[in-house]
Amino acid sequence: MMKLLLCKPQDSFVEPCCYQYVPERFKGKRAVFSNDIWSAYVHLKKTRGAEQVSIREVDFSSLSPNQIEDMVRGITHLVLFAPLTPVKRLEEIIRFVRVVKQKGIRVIGVLRTTCFHQELIERYPYFDALVASLHTIESLEYYFEKEATVADPLVIENRDIEFPKVFQADASFLEAKEEISLYDYRSRPKWRKQRAISAGTGCPHGCSYCVFQATRPVDKNPEQLVRELAFWEGEVELFHANVFRRRDWLEEVLRRMRKEETRLDIRTLGRIDDMHENMDLFPLCREAGITRIAVGFESADARILRSMRKSQNDLRQLDDIYHEARRNDIFLELNILIGMPEDNEESLQKTLDVMEKYQATFSVSLLRPLPGTTVYKEVLDARLATPEELSLDPFLQGIDMFVDHHPHVPTKHLSKNEMAKWHKRFTDLRDTYEGTVLMRILRKGKRLLERFPFGERVLSRVRTWRVRLAEK
Ligand code: SF4
Repeated sequence: MMKLLLCKPQDSFVEPCCYQYVPERFKGKRAVFSNDIWSAYVHLKKTRGAEQVSIREVDFSSLSPNQIEDMVRGITHLVLFAPLTPVKRLEEIIRFVRVVKQKGIRVIGVLRTTCFHQELIERYPYFDALVASLHTIESLEYYFEKEATVADPLVIENRDIEFPKVFQADASFLEAKEEISLYDYRSRPKWRKQRAISAGTGCPHGCSYCVFQATRPVDKNPEQLVRELAFWEGEVELFHANVFRRRDWLEEVLRRMRKEETRLDIRTLGRIDDMHENMDLFPLCREAGITRIAVGFESADARILRSMRKSQNDLRQLDDIYHEARRNDIFLELNILIGMPEDNEESLQKTLDVMEKYQATFSVSLLRPLPGTTVYKEVLDARLATPEELSLDPFLQGIDMFVDHHPHVPTKHLSKNEMAKWHKRFTDLRDTYEGTVLMRILRKGKRLLERFPFGERVLSRVRTWRVRLAEK
């Protein structure tokens, strides 16, 4: 009989995101909540029987071979939620999987990435299957159906599975409340992304640098999503490529949240054009607890936006939504991406000027051309890098550093050294306002923060940070 163990590193979350680990310098002892693993657990318990399925969050670095053997005794399948991981942690995971395989146990790795499949097979030897699809439950079912007939490691992609109409339908993590409360998810660790809830997945757009480009979108049922949000208090990261994509869906979610009177401080993501079309929903967003919305502003230069396939980003629309959000007490974070193949002095200066105008950019990313994305091919075609230079490992090393200061590739017009200098200009500018702006956001949210025990601690940390900044 099939006996399953679901398992994930305690400091990772598995929702699709650039940084899927709590970086080393923020690493604490607490577990990181991801609704993906818990939804799969609930689904498998329902379909396979509660006794046949168990779940663990593990610190792989501290496990001895004997402990691993104890942990997997009697199980037939290990489902390991192992997101993209830096080399050091990959070694820990592989050591663990090697012991598990010696026991004749089947191992399925859940990665939820939409590209670099070949690289993944090479990086994850010993695995019987790797879930690259964004839909874990459907992919696991696909594997169980096929496992008797496949010999080689299987990479399961979106196109292999029966596509769900609703995201994680009938598999809410709330049905595992008791087990969830065994972990320290409710207290807030040092990194705010501890509690990640996906409101949906996939994105139909084609931004050239993005690993989700052109994936079919699907949303969670609003009623289920709001019940799940209401389980928490304090900060929650609401993952969605663009919560403003479907107005009817968002409106229903927001109305239900307002009715629930959830005590939440929510950060989410939206696209400039869709937000502009639905600006009238901002007051409702704020009432529902959304205090921060990150948008991919990326560049102020129309030529660069075209090359990114993001020419719908419009500076006038950005200005409108920025001010409307401020009027509604919502902070708009303007994420920037520099180092695109076409970037030159002029495009970067334009972007820097807009960044200075709004003082709302915290994330200044340097382009990492990931295998499988359009820009990866563009960089190779323009001979800006070799495939070896663009391999996954340097990218994954960067994950542990959280912030990446070293350009991976030159542009057609600027060397890596010149890009490094530009990046410093952007981050220097950010340092001039970051502390003040965060303080302003926190002051505005003070009433909210006072409702939680961690609130005063957050404020005091920011104060210390500001003093350090002033000394610098
Ligand atoms: S809008 Fe572009 S960057 Fe955002 S998720 Fe979609 S494809 Fe990726």
